[in-house]
Amino acid sequence: MADDAMKPTLPTRGSAPTVGAKAPRTPDGSQAFVTTKLEHLVDLARTNSLWPFPMGTACCGIEFMSFMMSHYDISRFGAEVVRFSPRQSDLLIVAGTVTDKMAPVMVRIYEQMAEPRYVISMGVCACTGGFYRAYHVVQGIDEFIPVDVYVPGCPPTPEALLQGVVKLQEMIARGETNYQRGLAARKAARAAVGK
Ligand code: SF4
Repeated sequence: MADDAMKPTLPTRGSAPTVGAKAPRTPDGSQAFVTTKLEHLVDLARTNSLWPFPMGTACCGIEFMSFMMSHYDISRFGAEVVRFSPRQSDLLIVAGTVTDKMAPVMVRIYEQMAEPRYVISMGVCACTGGFYRAYHVVQGIDEFIPVDVYVPGCPPTPEALLQGVVKLQEMIARGETNYQRGLAARKAARAAVGK
């Protein structure tokens, strides 16, 4: 048998660990080993251990409170440990209108959060300024911080925010968040110059 036939299949980033088709088997018939990358396992753990920091500035904050109630049981997704200290959080949920005066505060909170960090923009006000076409309202928080998931609606339902969290988890597992992409780009740039 060719050596290649014995090699286990290497997983691609974000896919489940795969078992080699020709992997050796234990006496009870089960496959003896799986292969994956440490990076993938860490991403998997992070996916199911999000620590949200709620920045509720307006009515969307009420929907966020509803989202946190037992009816939706967000602990099923490992994201129920809400923190009000940015240093203990890795998921910023901006729920509401952000004025120009609040923008520097939002940026400061984002910069103080633990890395890797993620951002969900909840509601049309945070996503685009909503119906506040006014000089004093930020026309989308992505003018100031990188947003991973946009949850549309005025207000979005708790179910919509729940879907946003699940989408973010899928992105983390696939290495597709802004933070992960930035990290990968920096690694590639370092590799290119041989550092
Ligand atoms: S999107 Fe609607 S519900 Fe949310 S903060 Fe803006 S006006 Fe309020």
